[in-house]
Amino acid sequence: MASGAFAKPVVSDVRIGVHGGATRVVLDLDGEVAYTIFTLSQPYRVIVDLPEVDWRMSSIPATRGVIQRFRYGLFQPGMSRLVLDVAAPSVVERAFTLKPTADFGYRLVIDLRAVSAEEFGRQARLTPPPIPQPQAPTASPTPPTGGKPLIVVDAGHGGVDPGTISAAGTREKRLTLLAAIELKRQLEASGHYRVLLTRSSDIFVPLAGRVAIAHNARADLFISLHADSMANTKVRGASVYTLSEKSYDAESAALAARENNSDVLAGIDLVSGAYDTEVTNILIDLARRETMEFSAQFSKVLIGELGKSTKLLRKTHRFAGFRVLKAPEVPSVLVELGYLSNREDERALRDPITRAGLMTAIARAIDLFFVERKSASRS
Ligand code: ZN
Repeated sequence: MASGAFAKPVVSDVRIGVHGGATRVVLDLDGEVAYTIFTLSQPYRVIVDLPEVDWRMSSIPATRGVIQRFRYGLFQPGMSRLVLDVAAPSVVERAFTLKPTADFGYRLVIDLRAVSAEEFGRQARLTPPPIPQPQAPTASPTPPTGGKPLIVVDAGHGGVDPGTISAAGTREKRLTLLAAIELKRQLEASGHYRVLLTRSSDIFVPLAGRVAIAHNARADLFISLHADSMANTKVRGASVYTLSEKSYDAESAALAARENNSDVLAGIDLVSGAYDTEVTNILIDLARRETMEFSAQFSKVLIGELGKSTKLLRKTHRFAGFRVLKAPEVPSVLVELGYLSNREDERALRDPITRAGLMTAIARAIDLFFVERKSASRS
């Protein structure tokens, strides 16, 4: 335990079983915790909110009953979350805690029952879910300007949203964070830039929060780092994406759809409209033409520099409707550093030296971009 940190409750196991038509989820804990459970539709999900806990499961349980998938992690400071994707509309039949017995410690027990969409609607009305307001994270305060450009580096995914998980278990959210921290280190070491990270720990940040950080800090450049997966495990190489209403191709559209799904994965209710109005209201065509041009310019130099350090995907510059790239005045790009579905890419991205080399290429591109802009504004 880090010095001075409070001991967090430990979740040592999550067990899923089917009992008499109900799907039972049991969390094994080392003490009693307060919890909130609610359900969401579109898609159907069951959300369990807990105080910040330490997830220490020895293995990931097989999903059973109505549960198709589940995710867990930090949702916001002080609050952990378990998101269960269910195959059918499901309601919480019972939820209770159990005190330790000879065989078990503290347990949180949740029984889920599949119901019709109508019944789900009635039940949901009876118990309106408390909507936790995802806040813009406490990014470190904007460093003083000193005339230096401000770069916002965005580590994709985080907390309850792991991003891609490779066959070997590598989680995208971890690689993007390590890469972002390294890029920040290199940029700051150059003395030419101020750098802000959208997250500096394993925490969930809503897409709108990421955009808001860049927008509110009046960033000069926004770089979102990712390492996703492809169905074709032979595909490898880095690629660079910019915002467009029209997608470059079906693959890019699918990638943007997956990235845009981050808030849904994290158990945020996009149906109620209580969340995210800020970003959805920023229409792409309101983004200044200049911003789009700068984004394209940066992509060009970035691809040139990345190509010196790593293999590139064919037709490297692609575009699609990524929500995280929608800050209207901030040139923004999303970089797929490689694909965790490809063994060689995965090995390279896991290697700190290779990763640092990639970040050096990005830092070189940033240098070139700002030199170009400076000379353009003088002429
Ligand atoms: Zn991603």
